[in-house]
Amino acid sequence: MPKISESYLNADILIIGGGSAGIMSAIRAKELNPEQRVVVFDKANVNYSGSIPRGMDALNIVAIPGESTVEGFVKSASNGREGIVDDNVSFAIASRSWELLKKLESWGVCFPKGESKGYEALTTHSKGKYTVTMKEPNLKTILHEKIKQTDTIILNRTMALELLIENGCVAGAVGINVRTGETIVCRAKAMILASGGAARFGLPDNGHLYGIYDCPANAGDSYYLAYKAGAELTGMECTVCYVIIKDINCPLLHITLTRGGKLIDAFDNELEVGKDNLTSALPVEHFMKHGGNIRVRMSHLPEKTIKSIEDIIFSTERPIVERFFKGRGIDFRTHDIELAPTEFYLCGGHGLTGVKIDEAASSTISGLYAAGDAAHGQGYLTGAFTLGLIAAESATSYASEKKINDVSASPCMEEIENFIHKMHNNKSKISVDEFEFKVRRMINNYVAPPKNEFKLNRALESMNQMQQELCDLVRVETTHDLIKAFEVRNIITCAILSASAALERKESRWGWWHYRSDYPEKNEQYRKHVIVKKEGGKVSTCLKDTVTMNFEGDN
Ligand SMILES: Cc1cc2nc3c(=O)[nH]c(=O)nc-3n(C[C@H](O)[C@H](O)[C@H](O)COP(=O)(O)OP(=O)(O)OC[C@H]3O[C@@H](n4cnc5c(N)ncnc54)[C@H](O)[C@@H]3O)c2cc1C
Repeated sequence: MPKISESYLNADILIIGGGSAGIMSAIRAKELNPEQRVVVFDKANVNYSGSIPRGMDALNIVAIPGESTVEGFVKSASNGREGIVDDNVSFAIASRSWELLKKLESWGVCFPKGESKGYEALTTHSKGKYTVTMKEPNLKTILHEKIKQTDTIILNRTMALELLIENGCVAGAVGINVRTGETIVCRAKAMILASGGAARFGLPDNGHLYGIYDCPANAGDSYYLAYKAGAELTGMECTVCYVIIKDINCPLLHITLTRGGKLIDAFDNELEVGKDNLTSALPVEHFMKHGGNIRVRMSHLPEKTIKSIEDIIFSTERPIVERFFKGRGIDFRTHDIELAPTEFYLCGGHGLTGVKIDEAASSTISGLYAAGDAAHGQGYLTGAFTLGLIAAESATSYASEKKINDVSASPCMEEIENFIHKMHNNKSKISVDEFEFKVRRMINNYVAPPKNEFKLNRALESMNQMQQELCDLVRVETTHDLIKAFEVRNIITCAILSASAALERKESRWGWWHYRSDYPEKNEQYRKHVIVKKEGGKVSTCLKDTVTMNFEGDN
């Protein structure tokens, strides 16, 4: 068992996660006050960590002056999310989106101009064009260069394990170096949770623990940390699943359907996907009901369009895709592209799971803010960046009026040390990888749709049992194993929260994403958040109204 050594650090603002949202928050916090001490913990290396390790092909939400309005986006967002979204958060995201685009462009991010010299804008919502094409294979590198120009303290390879909370206010966090096992206590006046969603949740069809669609470092740590801290979470029952290119983890729908590609169903008919639901649950539902064979067809498109699609897929997103299709002899001009569903996962950007925040990115804990896939809102990359900016502004103002709270880290450290001791004293034969496989297979069996009361209760039973077995039965020999054990602890907690929320939502909503076979219809009494939080040491759930906004001209 390695010696548990500790070090200490103080920060005005501590940011957990240096992906899209976290890195943007850090840059903004230093812009606002270069004197404040900003610390970032990232489990990986911020140079290439997170959902955009390199490039991205679009900003999915931009209210373009003269083209699309903020109010229109708020309405489209509410339609697409079937009412379970707070309009004030959608409004905040969209109203900062144009300024964001201009900021990124001034940093050298490429947004190609169309023939009329305007940005290339695609229709992805019923109320107008909100998706702006980005052609930037080096997006994360540009952001990394930008943060390096500040004196932000970046602690790469540092995983946040627990938050320090006193009297309902944030006071800091405990992290662990994923290579050395050394723990670090960072006391902070304000904190931004930006550590992504629970990408490692359901087991993918390929059976590989890390062969998943979203960033595998994101193991639901945000949701675990927020829950343990006593913050409210919402959308935990929204188990998302998308259809992507079969046998390679790369998206295709947005890129092709917005440029005239057709989605072909199992019977060779064109499948109509509503504009507000372009990449939504509908194709997944069709896939599940008919056993597959959904394809994208591009053979009718002009050569110029196909070339531009290839350009994006083969360069900006994932260059390996070109070799993949070449190796299989597939040409977009002559062949349909077969799609397959991803694993089920929890995410604030692509889905609706996350810390419940308001328009200032504040959680229900004082001094704790959340942004990106960690926060509820389905804001995609724009949401991660704009809420990152907003969270930094709120945290800066909060921190300017606070002192460092010298709260003792001992109870937290004791809990962590107990976990580490138990794991190291375990002489069992079960490896942490085998155990994670089992946990995630059970998530597929009992938490993923189709859901019903019996299955969800079985999920709770088995996850509670596995939480115990993790400490009693799993072998940990290296620091790497230990870190994975912490991640499995978080995945299990997310499964418990997801099953609890799904039991509360006694209806079906968002197509297959929350399909309950015992309540197959949508019930408008449930047009509300299902809030999950920790109360009296246990999971509590309740319904809460969403925030709605009305605009002039609404009918
Ligand atoms: C394949 C793919 C394609 C996409 N395409 C588009 C698109 O075209 N347009 C669009 O608008 N959106 C797109 N999105 C969505 C968008 O990229 C994400 O919503 C956004 O990047 C999420 O940012 P984030 O900062 O919340 O999470 P991430 O960027 O994933 O960052 C999370 C960070 O937290 C770190 N971390 C995790 N746990 C811990 C911990 N315990 N302690 C410390 N650090 C931790 C991770 O290492 C990571 O760096 C796409 C997403 C994917 C996966």
